[in-house]
Amino acid sequence: DEIARTRDREFSEFRKRIKNTEQFKVTASVFDDATYGALYKLVQDGHIDAFGGPISTGKEANVYTALAGDSEARSASGQSGGDGEPRDEEVAVKVYRINASDFRDMRGYLDGDPRFEGIGSDKKKVVTAWVRKEFANLQRAQKAGVRVPNPIAVQRNVLVMEYIATEDGRAKRLNEVHIENPETAFEVVREYMRRLYDAGLVHGDLSEYNIVFHEGQLVVIDLGQAVTVHHGNARDYLERDCENVANFFARQGVDVTAEDLLATVTRA
Ligand code: ADP
Ligand code: MN
Repeated sequence: DEIARTRDREFSEFRKRIKNTEQFKVTASVFDDATYGALYKLVQDGHIDAFGGPISTGKEANVYTALAGDSEARSASGQSGGDGEPRDEEVAVKVYRINASDFRDMRGYLDGDPRFEGIGSDKKKVVTAWVRKEFANLQRAQKAGVRVPNPIAVQRNVLVMEYIATEDGRAKRLNEVHIENPETAFEVVREYMRRLYDAGLVHGDLSEYNIVFHEGQLVVIDLGQAVTVHHGNARDYLERDCENVANFFARQGVDVTAEDLLATVTRA
C-alpha cells in the first residue's frame, strides 16, 4: 500500500494541477471525481499531458485542448504530416458530463445497435457506452475513407482525438466560413455520406455545424449519435441528414434536393 499511497498523492496533485490551470478554473467544477480519475488514467497512459483551454461548451459535453502525452507525441512524429503547420502536439479532449447528459435521448440512439446490446438504463453506463460508440464510429468512418478526427483513446466519459486546428485555433465549421466552391464542397460531403452508408453508418446529426474546414479538406466531427444502418430509426436520421445538407448547400447556390442526395447516398 506504499504504492497505493503514492498513487493517491499523485492523483491529488494531478487534480490540483488541473484545477489550477487558469483557463480551467471556471469549468473544473463540472468534473466529478471519477472524471478526474479518467483524465488521470489518460495522462498515465501517455495520451494527454497538460490541459489547455475549452474549445466548446455543449449541451452534453465540453471539448478542451490538451498537450499530447508521450505516446501520442512519439507516434505523431512518425507520421508524415500534411501540408501546413503540423499541430500534432495538441489533442482534443471531449468530456461528457454524466449528469447533464440527456441520457434518455442517448438511449434511443443506443437501442437496436448490436454493438451496445444490454447496456441497461444506468445513467453512467449509458454515457460511457455512448463515448465508446463515438470512438468506434470514428474508427469505422476513418476506415471507410471519411476524413474525421483520428480517435486516440477513450476512458470512461472522456474521448481523446486529433485536434483539427491551425496555429490560429480550432478549424472553423462550415457555418462559420465563406465557401469558395460550394459545388465541390457538396460533392465531397455527398461522397462522405455515401462512404459512411456503405460502411453501415448513418451520422444522425450531419449539418454545417458538424463539418469543419481544415487546410482545404472537409472533416466530419461529432459522431457520438451515429447509428448503424440496422437501427430502427436509421432511415429517418439519414433523411434528416440529407435535408440538413441539401438545404445548406442549396442556400450556397448548389442545385440539390434532399431526395436526390438520399438517392445517391443509398444507391448500391
Ligand atoms: P457537441 O455535441 O457539443 O456539438 P462536438 O463534437 O460537435 O460536440 O464539438 C463541439 C465543437 O467543438 C465543434 O463544433 C467544434 O468546433 C469543436 N471540436 C470538436 N471536436 C474537435 C476536434 N477534434 N478538433 C477541433 N475542434 C473540435
Ligand atoms: Mn456538434
